[in-house]
Amino acid sequence: MKYHVSFDIDFRRNPYKGRYIAVEGIDGSGKSTQAEKLKEYFEEKRKKVLLTHEPTRKPPIGDLIHNVIQGNIKLPASSFQYLFAADREVHSKTTIEPFLEQGKIIITDRCFWSSVAYGILDKSDKLNGSEILLVAQSILSMYHQFIIPDFTFYIKISEEAAVKRLAKMDKKQEYYETLEKLKKIKEGYDWLAKKFSNEIITINGEQSVEKVTADIIKIYDLRFKN
Ligand code: ADP
Repeated sequence: MKYHVSFDIDFRRNPYKGRYIAVEGIDGSGKSTQAEKLKEYFEEKRKKVLLTHEPTRKPPIGDLIHNVIQGNIKLPASSFQYLFAADREVHSKTTIEPFLEQGKIIITDRCFWSSVAYGILDKSDKLNGSEILLVAQSILSMYHQFIIPDFTFYIKISEEAAVKRLAKMDKKQEYYETLEKLKKIKEGYDWLAKKFSNEIITINGEQSVEKVTADIIKIYDLRFKN
């Protein structure tokens, strides 16, 4: 017996006076660099800013996630997805919403869009286009009650450029950071940016750090003249 289920996703908009910015992209794309630059930019304008990231590193759930990423704990991919959703819910309720309510600018290095891009990776070998949509929908359905960022900037770079940057860093190679995996995650992001083009703004991440920051600020200022 085959059942047909389909549903629409209507994201929850930010109802608070604060502003909510997410930076997304594959590892090595420059998310944390840009998140820092944006923080400096807003602080120079005397705004109250909170820089945060997902997954959190907070116990118990954020800790658990980092242990899975580092290979210390093994979990099925779907359990891992639920952990991310739980971590984001706690983050959302204890940090993001209260600070938005206070009027702060929140800059988050990754948000729920990452889960969709990485979730597609876990199954992309076996899926066709409409099945990818189903996987994306099933992951997004965990997040429909979350506030969607006012801006999501997808910093787009090739997997080759990312690997070159990561190789220069001291950082221990984590679970996802091989060329083949980065390629698939990038495909996930490209798919998302196309599908949710009203939510996700693609920025060319292969430019200088300063130019990437300038591109982001230009788009932000166009919307929120201040
Ligand atoms: P992510 O947070 O996306 O993993 P990072 O911000 O940590 O990426 O950047 C990865 C590496 O690439 C760092 O060494 C950083 O200094 C460098 N980097 C970041 N942005 C650029 C850029 N636009 N051009 C060249 N190198 C960059």
